[in-house]
Amino acid sequence: MKQDLISIIVPCYNEEQALPAFYRAVSDAVEEITEADCEFLFIDDGSQDHTPDLLQRFAYMDSRCRYISFSRNFGKEAAMYAGLQNASGDYCVFMDADLQHPPELLKEMYRVVKTEGYDCCAGLREDRTGENRLRTFLSRSFYHLIGRICRLDMGDGKGDFRMINRAMADSILELKEYNRYMKGIFSFVGFDTKWIPYHNAARTAGETKWSLRALFRYACDGILSFSSAPVTLAGTTALILILAAVFTGIAALTAGHRSSAVLLLVCLILALNGIQMLFLSILGQYMSKDYMESKRRPIYIVKKKGGFPSPS
Ligand code: UDP
Ligand code: MG
Repeated sequence: MKQDLISIIVPCYNEEQALPAFYRAVSDAVEEITEADCEFLFIDDGSQDHTPDLLQRFAYMDSRCRYISFSRNFGKEAAMYAGLQNASGDYCVFMDADLQHPPELLKEMYRVVKTEGYDCCAGLREDRTGENRLRTFLSRSFYHLIGRICRLDMGDGKGDFRMINRAMADSILELKEYNRYMKGIFSFVGFDTKWIPYHNAARTAGETKWSLRALFRYACDGILSFSSAPVTLAGTTALILILAAVFTGIAALTAGHRSSAVLLLVCLILALNGIQMLFLSILGQYMSKDYMESKRRPIYIVKKKGGFPSPS
């Protein structure tokens, strides 16, 4: 029996191609950590391929492996929450199944949280090798924007790959909101974090699960969950537009060209209506988030579990 237990939480959505290499690479990496045992917590997020069968096989072969299968796809954030709820480790680490998070860093992460007094040791992705340019540009712009308006530390490259201690894990579990944006949650709970840089690797196998549309939705979720700046922006813009409309109206009338004034008015009405609709939609977004929270629906639904020690 070693000093500590590290829970390795792995959200998996259609990862049958990547999982065997992931399991081998991480098993090798944790052998290097002589002071801690590990458990694998694979969360099958409603995969439609052979991911559930593979996880069942891992659990059968290796007593360190446990899995939870969701009844459908609930999203990576829900999978991370389920992993944390079921982790019994002194330390928990979140890793993607595609080996984009280098397993070699686990040893250093453990050393940092164990001996340097940090609550969290997180990977800081230094580049976006293997990702297309449009996605890189959009992601960077999003993180720039969210950093400015949310006043939380959620910069580009600061992802989910991190090892956290029990105190931080418990405080994340305290946040039971339905709309979960983990990067925001990590930043919100605080604690001392040490960042260690790493280079992005291309996905080992399979494909990314994030289309541009899914990324856009994710970005909106992030902003709506952690900032009310869009509503403030709506108010300020509305005020500026009303003032501009008054001044343009006065100018058009005093100029004496009645027909151009009429055209100007039509143009203004259209513009104002458009902008009103836009901001109504922003308000609607906040209301719909609140509506989902008020229903208190479960964050995920479990279909099957395996590999957990039976209660004694
Ligand atoms: N994932 C998940 N549920 C989803 C989408 C993704 O559990 O709905 C998992 C996926 O299997 C992987 C991790 O989240 O382990 C990161 O996904 P991906 O590699 O597709 O994202 P990217 O690295 O392209 O941002
Ligand atoms: Mg990936």
